[in-house]
Amino acid sequence: MKILIGVPVSKGISIGFARVYVKEKVKVTDAKDSVPISEKKELLAKSLKKTKEEIKLTYENLKKTNPKEAEIFEAHLLILEDPALSEKIDEYLNKGYNLAYSVKASFEEFIETLKNLQNEYMKERANDLYDILDSLLRNILHIEKINLSSLPKDSIVVAEDLTPSDTAALDRNNVLGFVTEKGGPTSHTAILAEALNIPAVVGVNNLLQNIKNGDELIVDGTKGEVIVNPDNETKERYVSLKKEKDEQEKLLKEKAKEFAYTKSGKRIEVVANIGSPKDVDKALEMGAEGVGLYRTEFLFLDRTVPPGEDEQFEAYKVVAERFKPHPVIIRTLDIGGDKQIPYLNLEHELNPFLGVRAIRLCLKEKELFKTQLRAILRASAYGNVLIMYPMIAIKDEIIEANNMLNEVKEELRMKKIQFDENIKVGIMVEIPSAALNADELIDYVDFFSIGTNDLTQYTFAADRTNEGLSYLYRPLDAPVLKLIKLTVDASHSRGKWTGVCGELAGDPDAIPVLVDLGVDELSMSPSKIPEAKEIIRSL
Ligand code: PEP
Ligand code: MG
Repeated sequence: MKILIGVPVSKGISIGFARVYVKEKVKVTDAKDSVPISEKKELLAKSLKKTKEEIKLTYENLKKTNPKEAEIFEAHLLILEDPALSEKIDEYLNKGYNLAYSVKASFEEFIETLKNLQNEYMKERANDLYDILDSLLRNILHIEKINLSSLPKDSIVVAEDLTPSDTAALDRNNVLGFVTEKGGPTSHTAILAEALNIPAVVGVNNLLQNIKNGDELIVDGTKGEVIVNPDNETKERYVSLKKEKDEQEKLLKEKAKEFAYTKSGKRIEVVANIGSPKDVDKALEMGAEGVGLYRTEFLFLDRTVPPGEDEQFEAYKVVAERFKPHPVIIRTLDIGGDKQIPYLNLEHELNPFLGVRAIRLCLKEKELFKTQLRAILRASAYGNVLIMYPMIAIKDEIIEANNMLNEVKEELRMKKIQFDENIKVGIMVEIPSAALNADELIDYVDFFSIGTNDLTQYTFAADRTNEGLSYLYRPLDAPVLKLIKLTVDASHSRGKWTGVCGELAGDPDAIPVLVDLGVDELSMSPSKIPEAKEIIRSL
């Protein structure tokens, strides 16, 4: 038995088995080799078979929940059986190239041909081929790929770090916890674990040296401990502790169905942060009275082309419908910083957190932004939708974004497409300049929502993902609280409201402080809602 210590970021206890997720880049050289062709063909046949089995599994998993997406994987199977592709591979093999290179070069030629077709659907499929190629090469080169999209039961994912695109297709049914070597309280792992209501411990030194695939693990996300291969006594203690906690949680969840009022009678709206329609069930189950932050950039991750207007519309509409008549605040794309999207081919920046991210990027990439605005407006006909711009620094950005919104509204009117003519527009206050100037900005918006994750990092000039700087992550210190107060007071002076949607909103120690500062709405990971409501009721 070994006990590893890290930073607790999502509470609770889970007992399961390690699935170690290692990302290794596939390297292929163009060298020729002397391996007999028959051997190469045999390995190719085996690798193709394995790849097809993996694709079939993803297809079967998706078929139940997402039949449209599943169809794509069915097409992938057909591609692997295409005789033109195997002829190409044979040509390279006959010239003496190694198998991995023969496969890679053939796929790339095939991809180029598809890309040149004048058919949008085929062009998209061409990009999918890179994924198939990656799986096939891993099988040829025996680079194990732990597929996070289909995990065995009771898995605890162990990794150096988990990025949003690593987990976009995560098998949510079988994952019980996360343990990572890197990351801090606002890392993607932490946010995802909170959303899924599973324990997580991050920042565990030398993690991958101490855990191997299949080890039994206890993750204590409250204390920040990971127990590797526990002895019987320890395991029994944790099993009964877990049972006790589960019962307490059940009781709190029942009470979370009701609104939360402070003792003086002020209702604080308690709403959820979500990243996809998949999070809606959990949010409703936990007592969310709407969505205070829909992080739409997650729809853009783990793929090779951006989602089109219709796909986005469906993803926004379904959330609006499920929460109707409660509000759903859809945040426009917040790409950049730690959320990079390779297919947009954005310029490399030395300082991405201070770079062309979020609204800055959307104001440059006008078509990308307008497509999203159109999809949001169309969805607004189906529920109570609000729009929120991220990373606003100055009023001109709001004016420019609103001008584009008005253009899109006009286009929809011309085409007689329905949307909410009175749709409310707000901004995230997460840059000190916005908070300091809130009394001017408020005249251009209907509400504010404070992003304390970024507001803290920009106030202390400390990268929120750098665990070496976690001592500067101080959202409850006077500098940030002063900025929150300025923001709340500015909105109230015009009869408007302010919410908080950074991680601070769900922090039990912070809730009394935020309510005292006059915050009207708190938006948090669904799992935090029941306890947050209990705290509000005690104030
Ligand atoms: C924030 O910055 O507090 C926030 C809620 O946005 P994100 O974490 O997505 O940057
Ligand atoms: Mg932010």
